Amino acid sequence: MLEEENVSELSDEQISRIALKLDLTYVEQAEGLLVFDSTRQAGVQRGGEVAIPTGCAMEILEALDRGADRMEGYEGWVDPQNGFAEFEVQSQGLAELRRTERFTFETRPCSHTHDATPPYESAEGMMHPIVRVTSPDGNTCIELSRNTPLCVPRLPVDLKEGRGRTQTTLKIFIGETLERGELERKALGLANSMLFEFDARHRAAYVIRQKWQDIDSRPRRPAISYSVRYPRTSVPVDVAALFSIPSAFTLRRYRTLAFLSYYQILEFYLPAAHRRDALRKVRRVLRSLEFDTEKDSSVLKIVNSVERSQGASEGDQLRTLIEECVPEEKLREFFEEGHGGHFGKRGPISGVAAIHLNSGESVASQVAKRVYALRNRIVHAKDDARYADASVLLPGSREAGQLGPDIELMRLLAIEAIVDNR
Ligand SMILES: [Zn+2]
Repeated sequence: MLEEENVSELSDEQISRIALKLDLTYVEQAEGLLVFDSTRQAGVQRGGEVAIPTGCAMEILEALDRGADRMEGYEGWVDPQNGFAEFEVQSQGLAELRRTERFTFETRPCSHTHDATPPYESAEGMMHPIVRVTSPDGNTCIELSRNTPLCVPRLPVDLKEGRGRTQTTLKIFIGETLERGELERKALGLANSMLFEFDARHRAAYVIRQKWQDIDSRPRRPAISYSVRYPRTSVPVDVAALFSIPSAFTLRRYRTLAFLSYYQILEFYLPAAHRRDALRKVRRVLRSLEFDTEKDSSVLKIVNSVERSQGASEGDQLRTLIEECVPEEKLREFFEEGHGGHFGKRGPISGVAAIHLNSGESVASQVAKRVYALRNRIVHAKDDARYADASVLLPGSREAGQLGPDIELMRLLAIEAIVDNR
């Protein structure tokens, strides 16, 4: 890594190349660091100023010159000329592999240059674990270790010396020049195999980091009440547990899970709403002026009503629940906010109906169809002919990252269902 004396060697043009590549806005150079503003990256939790060491910036420039680039769907880099890929990873909970001295590694002589050997490397006065394995033919190595300059963490500007300067990354060394797309595919396949085995065999759960940019978190300022009252809403225990899930911090990125938690709340209230609806319809027949207990045709009206009610699908029941619990006015108000065209024809979620406030169909009915279609896309883990136009919506997908407004809608439905049934 290059030292601080090289600070002056970075030209404005070089700095703006880096800023562009990292999606940051350049602010200034300070004490061997390049300072950037990161607020442009809407999805990053910590907006504001971040820094990367100048030495890392130099190495990033060199990598860019030989055709290296950031990956498409994940945080990380590919270096096609060197047949190298590096994924940023997050460890979930206790990652057993941190105590690497307890493990043995299937390494072999290989064609790559590795700076250190498992289980540890020492750098900047700290010991960093290294996990590395080599393919039987010696051509490919997979390594979990501290980051190279390409995946340098964006440091807080007032960083205390040394702390937080490293992060764990998963590196794939293929060691022959590959076309970029092929490298990304191969690397992702190997990364997924490796991370699966880390979890399945060693209880070390790591996930590769999705690009923040793929997660839509446009700041939204929903209307909130400013008067705090003694609570009047009684909430069934099960419903309370489900309602708390989407707000749990660690789950914020798992949008499909948030959707399903709210959906389960609606499911909780489906039978009661359905029963009330069935009773109401039977009463309506009974109260009609023409009703005559002696006439078969009159009694058959009740039979038909009950049969129809028993044959109601989950989608129908959902519509009944929404019609019954959610005031049409609240739904209209919600959709009139616009949501950046999310619910329109060109919205980002495929396989679900758009919502048109001025169509002949009631908003409740349109909402029920959309919610049910989305639910099917999320719960069916495999493309199913029964849901022809609905491909699977997977938790980590780009589309899942765009679910925000649909989850807001689900939250509204869940709250109204809870309040209406208290
Ligand atoms: Zn190797």
